[in-house]
Amino acid sequence: MHHCRIKNGKTGRCRVRKNADGKNTPVNYGLVTSVALDPIEKKPLVSFHPGSKILSVGSFGCNLNCPFCQNASIAAASVENAVTEFYSPVKLAELAEKTKKHGNIGVAYTYNEPMIGYEYIRDTAAEIKRRGMVNVVVTNGSVTPAALNAVLPYVDAYNIDLKAFTASFYEKVGGDIKTVLKFIEIAAKNAHVELTTLIIPDENDSPAEIQELSAWVASVNRGIPLHITRFFPCGKMSDKTPTDIRVMRRLAGIARQNLDTVILGNI
Ligand code: SF4
Repeated sequence: MHHCRIKNGKTGRCRVRKNADGKNTPVNYGLVTSVALDPIEKKPLVSFHPGSKILSVGSFGCNLNCPFCQNASIAAASVENAVTEFYSPVKLAELAEKTKKHGNIGVAYTYNEPMIGYEYIRDTAAEIKRRGMVNVVVTNGSVTPAALNAVLPYVDAYNIDLKAFTASFYEKVGGDIKTVLKFIEIAAKNAHVELTTLIIPDENDSPAEIQELSAWVASVNRGIPLHITRFFPCGKMSDKTPTDIRVMRRLAGIARQNLDTVILGNI
């Protein structure tokens, strides 16, 4: 997404894409930092196989740099310091099948930003589909349509962060809002999509911003569920206060004027 100019043998800003003798290569392919069987509602997804569980995997690296990141230990890690175990696509698919008896419906690519290693999603998701299971991607949506197109045929559902509705907020986290909006539009035409907005005091909590954000989502599809989640002090924003619950409720009320499903999270 950043179109980094990377010297031979080095990685870009995400710490994952490497210039290996002129070839753009993901160094985290199959390197898993965490694997767990989670309730689907934790992704969060409320309108996709509710009540089921999904095998959730993460690697390391991220293409954004959010000061409030709750997963900084893996998002900011690199191949030199991340603690990982190798799971080939087949090995992960076999584990997904084994855990069917515990309610598992497939694999969720999550925890760090999975799309920076989209080749692993593409290959594993194809294997999961062959076994009649589903794939979920939890993403910041900050990659090019070309990366999205590579996984599109295999992914059944996405939870995409729509972190704010201003260019300035996205600049602060090292991203670009237009890229995210494009990602959401393409994903919503091809799969089940839910969105998440973390409300942070004085950063993205104005009624006008939520009005604009939810109106834009409705212009894509007013049936897209929007998760409005509560900020708690974290990372480089440890000095802030948690979001006032009354503010959360007010913003949810505004969003509900435009959208069919608005869920308050973390309150
Ligand atoms: S996009 Fe997510 S994983 Fe990446 S820095 Fe931001 S909060 Fe952390």
